[in-house]
Amino acid sequence: IFCLMTFGTLNAQKKPHLDKTKPTEERIDLLLKQMTLEEKVGQMNQYNGFWEVTGPAPKGGNAELKYKHLRDGWVGSMLSVRGVKQVRAVQKIAVEETRLGIPLIIGFDVIHGYKTLSPIPLAEAASWDLEAIKKSAQIAADEASASGINWTFAPMVDIFRDARWGRVMEGAGEDPFLGSKIATARVKGFQGDTKADLSKVNTIAACAKHFAAYGFAEAGRDYNTVDMSNSTLFNIVLPPFEAAKEAGIRTFMNSFNILNGVPATASSFLQRDILKGKWKFDGFVVTDWGSIKEMVTHGYAKDGKEAAEKAVKAGSDMDMESYNYVSDLVQLVKDGKVNESLIDDAARRILRVKFELGLFDDPYKYCDEAREKAVIGSKANNDGVLDMAKKSIVLLKNDKNLLPLKKSGQKIALIGALANDKNSPLGSWRLAADDNSAVSVLEAMQQYKENKLTYEKGADLTIEKATFLNELVFNTTDRSGFDAAKKVAANADIVVMVLGENGFQTGEARSTTNLDLPGLQQELLEEIYKVNPNIVLVLNNGRPLALPWAAKNIPAIVEAWQLGTQAGNAVAQVLYGDYNPSGKLPMSFPRNVGQCPIYYNNYSTGRPNMTDNNVFWSHYTDVEKTPQFPFGFGLSYTTFEYKNLKINKTAFAKGEPVKVSVEVTNSGNYDGKEVVQLYIHDEFGSLARPVKELKGFELIELKKGETKTVTLTLTEKELGFYDNDGNYLVEPGTFKIMVGGSSDKGLESGFELK
Ligand code: BGC
Repeated sequence: IFCLMTFGTLNAQKKPHLDKTKPTEERIDLLLKQMTLEEKVGQMNQYNGFWEVTGPAPKGGNAELKYKHLRDGWVGSMLSVRGVKQVRAVQKIAVEETRLGIPLIIGFDVIHGYKTLSPIPLAEAASWDLEAIKKSAQIAADEASASGINWTFAPMVDIFRDARWGRVMEGAGEDPFLGSKIATARVKGFQGDTKADLSKVNTIAACAKHFAAYGFAEAGRDYNTVDMSNSTLFNIVLPPFEAAKEAGIRTFMNSFNILNGVPATASSFLQRDILKGKWKFDGFVVTDWGSIKEMVTHGYAKDGKEAAEKAVKAGSDMDMESYNYVSDLVQLVKDGKVNESLIDDAARRILRVKFELGLFDDPYKYCDEAREKAVIGSKANNDGVLDMAKKSIVLLKNDKNLLPLKKSGQKIALIGALANDKNSPLGSWRLAADDNSAVSVLEAMQQYKENKLTYEKGADLTIEKATFLNELVFNTTDRSGFDAAKKVAANADIVVMVLGENGFQTGEARSTTNLDLPGLQQELLEEIYKVNPNIVLVLNNGRPLALPWAAKNIPAIVEAWQLGTQAGNAVAQVLYGDYNPSGKLPMSFPRNVGQCPIYYNNYSTGRPNMTDNNVFWSHYTDVEKTPQFPFGFGLSYTTFEYKNLKINKTAFAKGEPVKVSVEVTNSGNYDGKEVVQLYIHDEFGSLARPVKELKGFELIELKKGETKTVTLTLTEKELGFYDNDGNYLVEPGTFKIMVGGSSDKGLESGFELK
């Protein structure tokens, strides 16, 4: 111990920033003073994991250059290096071979778990269970940190309204209020509740992405142009980012899109005025992958050097894989084009997060083999993701009370390729998970041995093996399994069909113009229905699907998304009634793709309704304008009744809290949970207000027959809105409220704000 202390003291004398007793900002000052311009720029450079780091040094090409930069201290961060062995190897170079020994921050896309996977984020959002979502992020942080990682590129807090966009699977849905609450839960799950928690070994820095408006790519086509009103930007897009900032998030990632002609990466308005100015964010901004160099293809910079200049001036602190900072920033400063104070500021922000993570105090703190072994895939983590998976399931239809299934005496036919798929339930963005590591529905249902279960796939979903990187090829011709499937269906009391999307059908660059069941699944469904209409349709999908035929004809529909490692177990427990589903949709399900974008918190048109057979009203001539399943919708095996909606007064002075209470009774035959939702409508304002806005919710648990009074409070934070300059206004006027178990109906009342 004495030796260590002496070493520590000597080290601190030589490297005064290593003195733990000093405040962080002073330590950063001390370090910055020792750094050359090149070293400061180096902190702003992030490289993707580029060679088998535990093997010999790479020779030739990019890898050799990157390796040289790493040894020169010109790399501040690496992404996609994982596993204690690999991380230790790169960290060792940074800490022991460079002049100043500044540790790397190690980033990774830990999107819904690391190796033990939670449901995809959109599915988790369907739980409306903030504690569970936080716990799920904690599990992800626990495993990732045990694998050497200390920074995740999550949560994605983009709001979106278009199911064609493949990345809807990564977010929390269409609503900014729910999205903000979930952003907060996820940030705290990854980072801990307080700033001090960030230095714990099982927490990691989080990253709010993609700043901003990426979720509004036109026509749902990924990377596409965004054309957006200020009203949508301030009221819909930015609130979850601000919530993440308020929750203490340490990093932001900007986005690929342009906004008003400016690539987000070069947007001073977003990054300097709003994020670092108005919101006083003191962490750092990483660019999205290659987004600096994409400014050239956007036609916003003549070359990489100009792109680097524009990006740094706009407040992009770290360059992910554009190589423009490392190649051009030093020269830009020397040429007098970029003020060195901007470099100091960016380096300071990055170093700040490294200090807060405790990397300077122990650069190898995340490199503990024993912990890696004990934590990853642990029973506790598997139990945790199973719990999250059950909570994410949404019961969309249960006519004829086919569900829950009886535990004995039933003949069940299980049909569909996805029922026996151990890969698709993992969803996209599961870079560290083993292929085929999910429990399938078939495996899980086989555990319920008292029933007779027969399985037939009916038809393959894809022809070639789907991966993260290849285009998907669906089976549209091979019906050879149809007959066998029809036979088992005809002989069964109940048919459970697991249909939907392949796990790689959503995610980055997975936009689509079709929201039907891909391949031969719709045909199979209709064929089976002819021989046995008692079908429970279990959907596996990463985005809302448009299934008008099923919605009309199939008696029971269970939205089971892509639920991660424990998917099958969660589905089986819900089907058999061991768990009563309580999820509610975080995103509207359209009737057909032509309705997209469709969302509940739209504005009223001047002509919302039909009058006297007049055709000139806002509608479609070929389909109803309502969604198939609205935002906030989801059933239970029991029923809930709402009564006695009360507001504590009829008129309020500005600033006074509005208390809304309602009695909810479990009027059915099972214990269950319900998400009580409060929507407001500001009847008129200096700007038109949406027809409905979620402004409160509570998840309650009720025994059968039990009644609870739920009280929700509205404050100025919920009653106001942003004008087109981003000012927050709370205006007097009348407000309608609606309270219920879905966005489309509930008890109504109102009050006045003086
Ligand atoms: C994605 C980001 C992701 C990054 C690193 C990009 O293509 O847009 O969300 O974090 O890659 O993998």
